[in-house]
Amino acid sequence: MIAEEYKQMLGKKSVIREIAEYGAERAKEIEYEHVFDYSLGNPSVPVPQAFTDKLIELASSSDPGAVHGYSPSLGIDSVREKVAQSLKRRFGMDYQKEHIFMVSGAAGGLAHALRAVTVKGDEVITFAPYFPEYDPYVNKTGAVLKVVPANTADFQINFTEFEKMLTPNVTAVIINSPNNPSGIVYSTDTLKQLAQLLQDKEKEYGHEIYLISDEPYREIVFKNVDAPYIATFYQNTITCYSFSKSLSIPGERIGYIAVNPACKDAALIVNICGQISRGIGHNCPPSIIQLAIAEVIDMTADLSVYETNMNILYNELTNLGFSCVKPGGTFYMFPKALEDDAVAFCKRALKYNLLLVPADSFGCPGYFRIAYCIPTEKVERSLNAFRKLAEEYKK
Ligand code: PLP
Repeated sequence: MIAEEYKQMLGKKSVIREIAEYGAERAKEIEYEHVFDYSLGNPSVPVPQAFTDKLIELASSSDPGAVHGYSPSLGIDSVREKVAQSLKRRFGMDYQKEHIFMVSGAAGGLAHALRAVTVKGDEVITFAPYFPEYDPYVNKTGAVLKVVPANTADFQINFTEFEKMLTPNVTAVIINSPNNPSGIVYSTDTLKQLAQLLQDKEKEYGHEIYLISDEPYREIVFKNVDAPYIATFYQNTITCYSFSKSLSIPGERIGYIAVNPACKDAALIVNICGQISRGIGHNCPPSIIQLAIAEVIDMTADLSVYETNMNILYNELTNLGFSCVKPGGTFYMFPKALEDDAVAFCKRALKYNLLLVPADSFGCPGYFRIAYCIPTEKVERSLNAFRKLAEEYKK
């Protein structure tokens, strides 16, 4: 029998994908160069040469078994060790190999982490604006996703609303900082307040509340922005990291789960992830990619273009009258639309070949997302399109 639940998902296509597909069609008419495609979060900068060199070296290896063979289900030991050592060096926490689970990107990390610490009927809380894929990641585990409304003043956490939504059924909270789609980085104050509140509620409810920290944008932080390492604030943190954006390799599908060494049952959670991977058949991430990232573990692609693009867009858009909280990282910006209906606003933008994403699916109607991971030259050419669009609202 066909799985009705998944069949129904076919009718609910991702808005982001739909806009990107429109862009691809439009490009056939006017060439892609003239389509200002701000729809997808696909990194635009080259991968580090050291990664490519290592990959070539590995692919030419005389030991194909080590390079192309199955990985152990928790990841290759030497790679887990290198990840742990890197985290220890950078953030001063006592990570060991036992706390690391290699997995196919942050998406895979989230799917495993959620299954490890929730059971059917549990509640998982996240904060708007949020990455819409959290809906299937959470709901397909049998848990229920609850979304705290946005604090549009600065997109830090809306604690008043959050407290109201906390119940004994909550067993996990997902945060994402630097944030897709707002570009905001949670401050030290926000993280301290969050940790205190969760600790108090753990005591009150008599069970753990796991903080699942989704961190694919950890390395994309702009100058002078306070971006503390989240796990240092809260013991029961499960970090889901990805190399997709830091090394510009989203297609290679590689990341890891790092369970805070002080987390209750830390090593057990990692071992459970190995069993989850059997259960969902999403196991043994590619050996060659694990071995290659281990060699460039503290390296990133040249990410500086994202800050350049952000500054150009932020200055121009605020000059044009857009209201926008200045991003502290990522390659996203999240202005308020110039009319209440952001879907209508983004449709109107298509007239100028501007592909923007309305934020309704991010749980924050009235706003839109700009994914500025495109060449700076194109960002500059797009400014005229934004000007024309803004003009329409002055008439
Ligand atoms: N979480 C957020 C907030 C993202 O923006 C993305 C991808 O864009 C992911 C998770 C999934 O990333 P990955 O490629 O590491 O699976």
